[in-house]
Amino acid sequence: MPKWKIFLWKLYHNGIATSANLSSRGLAISDTCPQCNMAPETSQHIFRRCHLATILWQSGQLGIQSNSNLDVDFQDWLIAWVHYFYQQDGYHGDRLPIFVATLWGIWQGRNKYVFNGVIQDLACIRSLVNQGIQQHFTYLAQPISKVHAWSADSGPPGFLFAHFGASFCGSPQAYIQVDGSWTPTSTSAGIAWVVDHISSHIREGQGSCIIAPSALSAEAKACLEALIWAQGHGLRHIMVYTDCEQLVQGLRHQGSQPNSIAWTLDDIRTIGQQFQWCRITKVSRLLVQQAHELATHMRKDKIPFQAF
Ligand SMILES: [Zn+2]
Repeated sequence: MPKWKIFLWKLYHNGIATSANLSSRGLAISDTCPQCNMAPETSQHIFRRCHLATILWQSGQLGIQSNSNLDVDFQDWLIAWVHYFYQQDGYHGDRLPIFVATLWGIWQGRNKYVFNGVIQDLACIRSLVNQGIQQHFTYLAQPISKVHAWSADSGPPGFLFAHFGASFCGSPQAYIQVDGSWTPTSTSAGIAWVVDHISSHIREGQGSCIIAPSALSAEAKACLEALIWAQGHGLRHIMVYTDCEQLVQGLRHQGSQPNSIAWTLDDIRTIGQQFQWCRITKVSRLLVQQAHELATHMRKDKIPFQAF
């Protein structure tokens, strides 16, 4: 549902109006959780730690122990569960809506208490969760045309990614934009990647001119070469940005990957798994602009592949 999309988007960007958020933005209010008065009301607290939330998760159908692994911050916890249910059950699985409805119910219950003074217990919040699930299925049952804008697989920006590596939670050491530059009039393509090292703030770019039969093939090669480069340079946690949706979808769904780049995708998966944390994310073209310019330069000047 659109309201769930917005809600999740706000949760993911810590943009929800919790007391702690409002107080940190200068509003003269207490940052304490209004329901338990035990701790600042952060997302981590309301949705995972606050007493009622903990019991709700534990006793619900998903049986989640929300107050374990508290060193994982809320945003990582959220995305890890979303991704887990998505991978296990697919986009139309049952557990993902239950998960979102539970978050939604907790937030609705909290607002009923804060704005209407209605004291919440477990039964109240459970009924809000069930209401949410009902609304979700009613929404899905609408004629297709109404749900037309609902793109089945991509979700909001930043949500379409393929994740590899031993660990799901964590943050990258480097952001790597990759891009391929290809024209139908020539078999020469440029590939490039631009690396932003987070701790040192150093930016560096690499690339070369290769033979590629299509734009998609050039994009996939750029991604593969960037991973090989990152591995050779000892990086363990990397975030790769590409503007190619087909590449990310192909990496996610081996069954439906384009045959023309199947081998390259297999290589990307194999190398991706060797990282501790490797996430290949679909982004807008603007976010790969530097790699795009470098790749175009490589193609036009026919700069050959070098050993780095
Ligand atoms: Zn609380």
